[in-house]
Amino acid sequence: MASFVTHLESAIDGTQLPAHTLQTMHNDRPLWVRYDLDAVGKVLTQDKLRDRKPTMWRYRELLPPRDNANIVTLGEGMSPLLPAARLGTKFGLNDLWIKDESQLPTGSFKSRGQAAAITMAKELGVTRVAIPTAGNAGGAMAAYAARAGMEAFVFMPDDTPAINMYEAALAGAKVFLVNGLITDCGRIVREGKDTMGWFDISTLKEPYRIEGKKTMGLELAEQFNWELPDVILYPTGGGTGLIGMWKAFAELDALGWLANDKRPRMVAVQSDGCCPIVRAFDAGERFAQPFDNAATIASGLRVPAAVGDFMILDAVRESGGCAIAVDETCIRQWMHDAAGSEGISVGPESAACVGATQMLVESGWIKPNERTVIFNCGASQKYPDAMRVDLPRIDKDAPLDWAAMLHV
Ligand SMILES: *Cc1c(COP(=O)(O)O)cnc(C)c1O
Repeated sequence: MASFVTHLESAIDGTQLPAHTLQTMHNDRPLWVRYDLDAVGKVLTQDKLRDRKPTMWRYRELLPPRDNANIVTLGEGMSPLLPAARLGTKFGLNDLWIKDESQLPTGSFKSRGQAAAITMAKELGVTRVAIPTAGNAGGAMAAYAARAGMEAFVFMPDDTPAINMYEAALAGAKVFLVNGLITDCGRIVREGKDTMGWFDISTLKEPYRIEGKKTMGLELAEQFNWELPDVILYPTGGGTGLIGMWKAFAELDALGWLANDKRPRMVAVQSDGCCPIVRAFDAGERFAQPFDNAATIASGLRVPAAVGDFMILDAVRESGGCAIAVDETCIRQWMHDAAGSEGISVGPESAACVGATQMLVESGWIKPNERTVIFNCGASQKYPDAMRVDLPRIDKDAPLDWAAMLHV
């Protein structure tokens, strides 16, 4: 099967670049992947999807590789879309859903972006890749690189959750801990490019991670029978998923697949410990200033400067959405609220979305009957520090205190 990609397009000034050759950015800003959607519409129908496997590659015609043999996959995609009635009721919401990405390979939605990026790197002849990561992207890249037989270098802050360090090393990557933030790691990858000969898989510094992440939007549409929800809350670090979903909705619209004109209001959620996008949104700016002293247990949100800042802000504004920062000190509690009321393994990033949902319902920005979707982007098990609680102990030799057990 051939690719329907026509070209790449600079997100900052529309310059067109050829696809099917290795590309990075244009004027230090990201590229869009463009498709011949008329041609896609002639071969792909909603009916055809029904017979396909439940992975993100079911949307093959809307994905970039030219040759199926290059697809590097661990079965990622088609994550469950779960009703969250009990949690919704707590906030006064009647139609709350959680799109649960925690069940994807490597326990986060980073697998979608990495499946696409590593597939394309392989197709274009790359044999060595490198990434700066706040956590999950490094683990996912290491896994897909292993799957592709590629050499992987991962650079992460030295206080990244331990699981992220070990999962990447376990998958055979060369992992380095840096006494700084993801931006410092990014500089190392950039500076090493020529000497080390690696390809930079940083968020939005190659064109294809967005394409993998956009499949969240395609799936959401399909799972809701092509009728999009009213509000989407997305925990925003580099913003790939929010940008990608907004792109997906435009592509579905161009294909004429959406049941009505409704587009979700996109909400970019950050912690007040690192909220450059929220600040720019509030200030009416298109570009975000780097955020000083970024600190949050939601490591996926610890991105003080995003190269796709304007793409996030454009999507949020076009959608009629907003950007909102939540109280860092409440994130653990929201993890407990979500997991305790729904049994869903909600990581700290998405716990921030739980808090944001509550705030936005209280302020009246989300109405009680609006269909609202929280993206749960990573499994709580990847954050042992954020999960930690003091548990009561039982002395096996002492008399058992049943009443006390009821009150812990
Ligand atoms: C990376 C990550 C995010 C942020 O995603 P972006 O698309 O980069 O904004 C949120 N949550 C988790 C669990 C992540 O791993």
